[in-house]
Amino acid sequence: MAPRVYLDNAASTPVDPRVLSAMLPWLGEACGNPGSLHAEGRHARAAVEEARAEVAALLGADADEIVLTGSGTEADNLAILGAAAAFPDGEAHVVVSAIEHPSVLEPARRLSRLGVGVTFLPCGADGIVDPADLARALRPSTRLVSVMAANNVTGTLQPITELSRVARSHGALFHTDAVQAAGKVPLDVRRDPIDLLSLSAHKLHGPKGAGALYVRRGTPIAPLLHGGGQENGLRPATEAVPVLAGVGRAARLAREEMADEAVRTVALRERLVEGVLSGVEGASLVGHRFRRLPGHACFLLDRLEGEAVRLLLDLDEAGIAVSSGSACSARHADRPSHVLTAMGFDAVKARGSLRVSLGRFSTGPDVDAFVAALSGAAARLRRRPARASARA
Ligand code: PLP
Repeated sequence: MAPRVYLDNAASTPVDPRVLSAMLPWLGEACGNPGSLHAEGRHARAAVEEARAEVAALLGADADEIVLTGSGTEADNLAILGAAAAFPDGEAHVVVSAIEHPSVLEPARRLSRLGVGVTFLPCGADGIVDPADLARALRPSTRLVSVMAANNVTGTLQPITELSRVARSHGALFHTDAVQAAGKVPLDVRRDPIDLLSLSAHKLHGPKGAGALYVRRGTPIAPLLHGGGQENGLRPATEAVPVLAGVGRAARLAREEMADEAVRTVALRERLVEGVLSGVEGASLVGHRFRRLPGHACFLLDRLEGEAVRLLLDLDEAGIAVSSGSACSARHADRPSHVLTAMGFDAVKARGSLRVSLGRFSTGPDVDAFVAALSGAAARLRRRPARASARA
């Protein structure tokens, strides 16, 4: 059997073998609790602090500004609900973009049910949130703005430098969900006035079940969990040392290899986009042509919008893993994507996107195999209804 081609790195990435080797000792005899004072405990504490320092270095932050969490989802929830719990008394208003991941949208909806004013900011047809729209949405009571650094469906990069400056000049906190962007494009919380930033380890060749929230020193925020006071009281629980050892190594590798990896991945992505646009009839790219993650592309195929799941399963059968929309929307593939809807696509098209996302281990032959398989599968699917009607 031919080896499978994995092109769904926006859903999750394979753990880098160097990350795995950093984790393995902690799954064996090393059993100390980082809270303990003995040598085993101090050894574990050192591993946790190394992970924190590496995540901080990836973002240009100080280590004491990093809260290690159990996922990107948890980091987003802590940012939105934790910041809201510390809002000053009185009227409060929050702005989030309409294209956020559910781990931001759902906490925002919860705030709305609790009486906080919430504005869902639109984006343009290219998937980009306009800072001028943000400026118009702000109110005297706006306390928090949240716009993702890169979208998980389209891969489009948002102008977070400008957006964070608009929020800061208004006196509102700025949060960015950088789960898709971290480790792939440079992020710098010193250059940009970002107060809160979420990331997730399994999107950057680290283990699943680990994330981090950057909290700018002095940002008012309350914990969601209550317990033994770990993570500066913001995320109490015994630290998941084996996982965090992997987070630290994954963050370091991402930082050290980002520049070279971005050049390599952009070249692969261009091969992919050009291959699909020229080799697959009726294909178009969703989102801004170039302002996108190095390894991310999202396509629509004319007359096959209703067939995205069929197409995905045909590709799967051919040994190729890609995604229709986002990984969490795959369970509801019959529903239009809220991201594509916000970009102005109708309900039919908004159900029909195909997401291809490259990672550290993706190669040129992977891309070529995908383009050939997609071209064949699309042609077969398009022929099918014609044959059926010819028989009818
Ligand atoms: N935010 C974005 C943009 C994502 O793409 C994801 C995961 O797909 C998350 C948040 C959630 O991260 P996690 O899977 O670590 O909970």
